[in-house]
Amino acid sequence: MTLTDVIEVLEAAYPPGRAESWDAVGLVGGDPAQEVRRVLLAVDPVAAVAEEALDWGADLIVTHHPLYLRGTTTVAATTPKGRLIRALIKNDVALYTAHTNADVANPGVSDALARAVGLVGDLVPLKPFPDDPWRGLGRIGEVAEGMTLGEFAAQAAKGLPRTSAGLRVAGELSRPVARVAVSGGAGDSLLATAAAAGVDVFLTADLRHHPASEFVESGGPALIDAAHWATEWPWLDSAASILHASGVTVETRVSATVTDAWTRGY
Ligand SMILES: [Zn+2]
Repeated sequence: MTLTDVIEVLEAAYPPGRAESWDAVGLVGGDPAQEVRRVLLAVDPVAAVAEEALDWGADLIVTHHPLYLRGTTTVAATTPKGRLIRALIKNDVALYTAHTNADVANPGVSDALARAVGLVGDLVPLKPFPDDPWRGLGRIGEVAEGMTLGEFAAQAAKGLPRTSAGLRVAGELSRPVARVAVSGGAGDSLLATAAAAGVDVFLTADLRHHPASEFVESGGPALIDAAHWATEWPWLDSAASILHASGVTVETRVSATVTDAWTRGY
């Protein structure tokens, strides 16, 4: 398989044209003509992931987060990003990013998150595209059987990969939970949309004190704040499955390296 073959599959599943205008998705490093046998999937393009790729002999790393989001004037080994891209180029390892285009895809990042925390049935976007009701940001689904917020939080914690931060819950633990909205990554901007959707819980990451406090005070859904990395990690398996289902003959590996920014809780 060539890198071009793999990219074709990824771009059919995650069309780059659906990425936000501020985003930087697609091929970051590598030659479209190069041979690809092993693909490592990871959330973050950081040193630990690059090391894992080199140790395993990966030809391609597919990450969710972009390496370069803003302009840069150097790839010298004097910065962490420079060292990373230099190591990848020297070892002929390509790097490809599917970020906000993977968030809004179907299935995308929030579908995988929804299933990981135990939502069942059809999943519908929390904020659908005006031109496509099955694609968009976040997902709404239902729990298999009625449970309390405390029980749902425990189920969600069990379904997500472990991080030092764990889950933080805002809301009365005994309140009933049936419909849940989720959004992988920082979901601050979807708080009002989640409230308007009439769900019982909104699970996302990177929530801040004031918006979260005001949201709960105003009688909105309960909130569950998970580690950013943990909410996006379940998507990696989904992306690997898409590669396998497409018929491209590559070996895939989902990086289990925890690259959440917060490494220890006290
Ligand atoms: Zn993210």
